[in-house]
Amino acid sequence: MTNKDDLRPNEQTVTLAPASDASLRFIGKIRTPWRSRQQCPRQGQIDGPECQLVLDLVWHEALRGLEAYEMIEVLYWLDRSRRDLVLQSPKSDGQTFGTFALRSPVRPNPIGTALVRLERIEAGTVYVRGLDCLDGTPLIDIKPDRCAFSPKAPPKPAAIIPR
Ligand code: SAM
Repeated sequence: MTNKDDLRPNEQTVTLAPASDASLRFIGKIRTPWRSRQQCPRQGQIDGPECQLVLDLVWHEALRGLEAYEMIEVLYWLDRSRRDLVLQSPKSDGQTFGTFALRSPVRPNPIGTALVRLERIEAGTVYVRGLDCLDGTPLIDIKPDRCAFSPKAPPKPAAIIPR
């Protein structure tokens, strides 16, 4: 989405140099019930529908120990966003904000984050509630919640992974 016709009143774009500095490695895909942005919630809810983090085979082993956590942080690439707005009017009500004052998917590096509830892990797929992204959104990373109270139980010795 980079068309000038998509702009709302007072929104401002910049001309971007080609992206060249970082190479992300997607680790899988996110499966959700939402096929259009209009269907997606603006922020996920912990009692929302179950979604799946489907990891590529090479990363299955990297999930070891994650089951000890009730809440996990998910990072994803909002791949259908434009990336050139500095000012945005998300509600089309005349109010305009800088991109970094918003959690809009439209940003120079469209990274989304969500704290989600871990339901279960089966064969390289992590079942969670609390997401807000389109079906097929690329998955960047998964981390245990940093909150000290989040482990369900003391992790077993085999599950201790250095942070
Ligand atoms: N929870 C994340 C955060 O705060 O970083 C994302 C919040 S963003 C407001 C969520 C919205 O991004 C959704 O309502 C939808 O309109 C849009 N969105 C979801 N998946 C997307 C994708 N793959 N590409 C572009 N936009 C997407």
